[in-house]
Amino acid sequence: MQAISIQQPWAFAIARGGRAISNQAVPTAYRGPLLIHASMRVDLKACDSPLIRAAGWDPRDPLATIGAVIAMAELDHVCSAGFQGEACDCGPWAEAGAHHWQLTSVRALPRPIVALGRPSLWEPAPTLMTKVQMMLAPAPTPAPANPAP
Ligand SMILES: [Zn+2]
Repeated sequence: MQAISIQQPWAFAIARGGRAISNQAVPTAYRGPLLIHASMRVDLKACDSPLIRAAGWDPRDPLATIGAVIAMAELDHVCSAGFQGEACDCGPWAEAGAHHWQLTSVRALPRPIVALGRPSLWEPAPTLMTKVQMMLAPAPTPAPANPAP
């Protein structure tokens, strides 16, 4: 598993707003589960952008926090057409001049998990991975009061 630190409100837009693209300066060969970590910096100008407003940006939402893991996704594909100045069909979230990391199966965490991030991709500590997996695991089925006959 890997994690990526993304500024708010962009991280929130992934967790809550159905944003399936992360614009990154570099591509990656990594594919698989990816934790979405809200970094300590906030892109204040972006908070007023129509895209972010449409994604339901709400500073009071617990997942609007900073310095915490707020979602888990799958990194399926990286599109580099935009980086090469070509058109692609990555949608409104994709920016020109960036590599488009395509995310699927986004699951917002029920509450944020405080963690230190790092630029670009980083490997989450085992304790952090365990916390995420416990939060996303289905609730255990209660044992039946009476054993079945
Ligand atoms: Zn693209």
